[in-house]
Amino acid sequence: MTDPSCAAPPSQWKTFRAPDKVVADLPELESGTNHSKVADRWTYPASEVHQWMTRPATAPKGRKLVFLTFDDGPDKTVTAQELTNLEKGGVPATFFMITPQMQGVPVDLLRRSLRDGNGLGVHSYSHDYRYLFKGDAAQRATHVACDYDWALAQARAILGSGYAESGFRYPGGHMSWSHLGQADAELARRGVVPIDWNAMSGDADAQMPTTVPGYLAMVKKSIAEAGNPRVVVLLNHDNKERTAEAMPSIIAWLKSQHYQFGIIS
Ligand SMILES: [Zn+2]
Repeated sequence: MTDPSCAAPPSQWKTFRAPDKVVADLPELESGTNHSKVADRWTYPASEVHQWMTRPATAPKGRKLVFLTFDDGPDKTVTAQELTNLEKGGVPATFFMITPQMQGVPVDLLRRSLRDGNGLGVHSYSHDYRYLFKGDAAQRATHVACDYDWALAQARAILGSGYAESGFRYPGGHMSWSHLGQADAELARRGVVPIDWNAMSGDADAQMPTTVPGYLAMVKKSIAEAGNPRVVVLLNHDNKERTAEAMPSIIAWLKSQHYQFGIIS
């Protein structure tokens, strides 16, 4: 059972009460993981992916890996579009979710995502920068831990008590904030590491692409600026319809560059 480090969820979001008994896992979930059994062979621990990103010399030789990641969902329309894109491309992705939104989508959407071999990760409960990243290091640690614990409890209430993951996508990205050493230590005590990205489709930028060629150009430029690493973690959002329109072309281009697709546990 999850035992949050704070009494109440950290925001104005619709209230959530953690169940006081074990929740049966969704049939598609492999207990102790964030994915289904079929995805085992393309799943990599967040700590490993983080190391390959930050120390490229340690990345596996002789192959190229890409991790498509989608933040800020689930959204019943756009997430479904992205799942269709991934199904048509025959590739998996990792979805970092704002957990209260999980209550607003049909559970069949999450089951479909698991069945397809995708990974479901936690992106926070509140997604509230002013709550998470204000004050000194100790306050940030308290708030990040509280937020994470409720997010995990909520994910387990929906996916099942056997749900577990090893990577936390900080709202805004770990790289955007300072004084997170104690917060990271709180996550480490929970067996979780921060996992950022090293390339992006640009859909969170003020000047986000507006056309499919614009998206593709952004992805190519972003990967080139990262030094064409053998391991690419690509940031996208599954609450942006334009990203969903561009994703088939992005997937096709990544395949043409001989990337294999993985998910982050
Ligand atoms: Zn976000």
